[in-house]
Amino acid sequence: MSNLEDIGEFGLIERLTKGLKRSKQLKVGIGDDCAVFQLGDEQLLLSCDALIEGVHFRRDWASPEDIGHKAAAAALSDIAAMGGRALCMLLTLACPQNTDVAWLERLYQGVKALAESEHVAIAGGDTTASPDALMLDVTVVGVVTAHRPLCRSGTRPGDLIAITGYPGCSTLGLKALERGVDAPSHLREAHLRPRPKLLEGRYLADYPEVRAMIDVSDGLVQDLGHLARAGGVRINIETMRLPLHDDLVACAADMGLNPVDCALFGGEDYYLAFSMAPEQAEAMLEEVRRQLVLPVTVIGEASAGAPGVTVDGKKVVPGGYNHFQCPK
Ligand code: ADP
Ligand code: MG
Repeated sequence: MSNLEDIGEFGLIERLTKGLKRSKQLKVGIGDDCAVFQLGDEQLLLSCDALIEGVHFRRDWASPEDIGHKAAAAALSDIAAMGGRALCMLLTLACPQNTDVAWLERLYQGVKALAESEHVAIAGGDTTASPDALMLDVTVVGVVTAHRPLCRSGTRPGDLIAITGYPGCSTLGLKALERGVDAPSHLREAHLRPRPKLLEGRYLADYPEVRAMIDVSDGLVQDLGHLARAGGVRINIETMRLPLHDDLVACAADMGLNPVDCALFGGEDYYLAFSMAPEQAEAMLEEVRRQLVLPVTVIGEASAGAPGVTVDGKKVVPGGYNHFQCPK
């Protein structure tokens, strides 16, 4: 008999969902950032994401507005990963009976502010009691606007692997918050107020050269692992090419942490990782960099081989966040 610690989050999902009947209209089912459902000419994107007190956030350093913002941002990030436009969201709140109402209003304000800034309607939800921890679950609905949804599958041997933004900032921001260490505010913000990369996702999905995409929520190595397995390719990351923010390097040194490990294994940055055809890649990236406010960096390459991720050509011990498996 196996327990959750043995099989982990992804083993559990596989076990529970084995043998599910596929409907014809369900173009992409379990295993991608969103499900894709064909409705007439439209392709709907559907996803949900839960945030649990004590697992994803702590009330002592995150404001209620931060928590609301992050719940909505994490859910919307999956729409971004498919290159979609977000339409609306539904918010389920499970609260302990003694929760302060003004505090909950502030949390909702965080959700509302992000929804407004991203032009996403709040269409409903559910409200219930919870025995001790606060829980939020955000369901998002979007629509594919490019010529196809950008799935996790599709990477081919020889493709380049690129990321938007700076990896590792969120995890370092979290470490600074946990240790009560002073850190540049953008590192703390990266953890408390991630921005879903909706604009960037839609922009990238318009390029036929871009073949697969994922949002990095559980760490670069782990999430590129999903891309590698979905595409049936090996992905090698070159650490020399990782865009390490100067503040990340300085702050990691102050805290005795390895900045490369933060970038490889740190989660919750919600930047996008994608693969693209190598032909014309430089010209395309030049254009993308001009249009996007974030840097876009090639960090590695895909090749034929056993699906998985290597770092500088070597196998790595799986890192990243996995519910039910305690960090060693
Ligand atoms: P993400 O990190 O993009 O939010 P997850 O790692 O949470 O994605 O989930 C991976 C895939 O497994 C997704 O396609 C998701 O819809 C699916 N999934 C997760 N939990 C369940 C569940 N309990 N039942 C069915 N599908 C699930
Ligand atoms: Mg995702």
